[in-house]
Amino acid sequence: MGALVDLHLHTTASDGRLSPTELVQLVASQGLKQVAISDHDTTEGLAEAFYAAREFPDLRIIPAIEISTDIPGDEVHMLGYFLNHEDPELQALLGRFRDGRLERGKAMVDKLATLGIHVDWDRVKEIAGDGAVGRPHIALAMVEKGYCKEPKDAFPEYLGRNGLAYVERTKMSPDQAVNLLVRFGAVPVLAHPAYLVDMEPAIALLKDVGLMGMEVHYAQYDSKTVNRLAELAEEYDLIPCGGSDYHGLGNTGELLPGTLGPPLETVERLEDAAHKLR
Ligand code: AMP
Ligand code: FE
Ligand code: FE
Ligand code: ZN
Repeated sequence: MGALVDLHLHTTASDGRLSPTELVQLVASQGLKQVAISDHDTTEGLAEAFYAAREFPDLRIIPAIEISTDIPGDEVHMLGYFLNHEDPELQALLGRFRDGRLERGKAMVDKLATLGIHVDWDRVKEIAGDGAVGRPHIALAMVEKGYCKEPKDAFPEYLGRNGLAYVERTKMSPDQAVNLLVRFGAVPVLAHPAYLVDMEPAIALLKDVGLMGMEVHYAQYDSKTVNRLAELAEEYDLIPCGGSDYHGLGNTGELLPGTLGPPLETVERLEDAAHKLR
């Protein structure tokens, strides 16, 4: 049987390729019961997702977000669950993050041009549509132009954190993200910890600034990694979370929602934690 919970999903509101409605239909058909829509720096997909989910009474959508932050030499993604997504102050802040993404996306396209990779900025914006612009949109434009075969191929050399065309976002630190999430009622959870260069010290530091959970089940993590992360979650008293991080970008090996995920009990723990924040 597949997973019942998936706490990490993207839509066209950011760099996912399925609309919120299409994603809801997919997760329902996969038999999922509790899912979090966690777009990058936006909650714009939630209203449509809630509307679409009315067709599926057994499915619950948890309002969430994934905030991008930076530490020296690395990037840290912070998930937040049960966010008060309708708060106007939060929306104003997120609007500013997304404006920053536009400038940064354009700067990366300019940098690519100096490296002989010519993608059209207007085309990148067209691919992103109404969504928060992200590197995968640039990667898709590169695929269209034949510079790489699939979006993920654009990262090691060009778009990745240490790639030649990488440009930083407006800087935000993980503790600022934790504070922001908590302020708007969300439980802060570290995304895909195993991508961190210096994982354990980062977890210890983040725990000190108020982190409440970390992803343990994630996309292609093997059982050894999952076990190691579960031990760390236990050690640092963090709620073990996780999900597929489904984007629908067409990368080889991308797992569908419902392939893996935490148990239903995780959602109860997140909910308890969220109640305590109110
Ligand atoms: P951005 O939000 O513009 O910083 O882009 C971050 C997104 O790019 C992530 O959520 C992934 O979808 C994608 N991404 C980042 N690093 C990689 C990588 N090394 N390989 C493939 N996709 C990546
Ligand atoms: Fe993404
Ligand atoms: Fe992420
Ligand atoms: Zn993600």
